[in-house]
Amino acid sequence: MPGITVKRKLREGRRNRFIAASIKVIDHIRETYGKSDASGEIACPLCEVGTVRFVVNGFNGHTRGYCGTRGCLRWVEGITWLSIATDVIHKFA
Ligand SMILES: [Zn+2]
Repeated sequence: MPGITVKRKLREGRRNRFIAASIKVIDHIRETYGKSDASGEIACPLCEVGTVRFVVNGFNGHTRGYCGTRGCLRWVEGITWLSIATDVIHKFA
């Protein structure tokens, strides 16, 4: 069924963009703040119109954040990178 394949490819593409944007934001936050308590805002690399608000946990350096655009970037960092991807997969499942 070609229709199903196309749908799946679109969904995978969206998921990959979501993961790539998450990693980009988290890398930027890590480089800037390291493992110190911090919070702030940066322009969203995914929708390119919204603002991502984030918080860094100074205890373990984990980050969480969300974009103000509905349905856009939103993540909570767990123990491993995998948990970020898993959150994303659940979001679009
Ligand atoms: Zn966004």
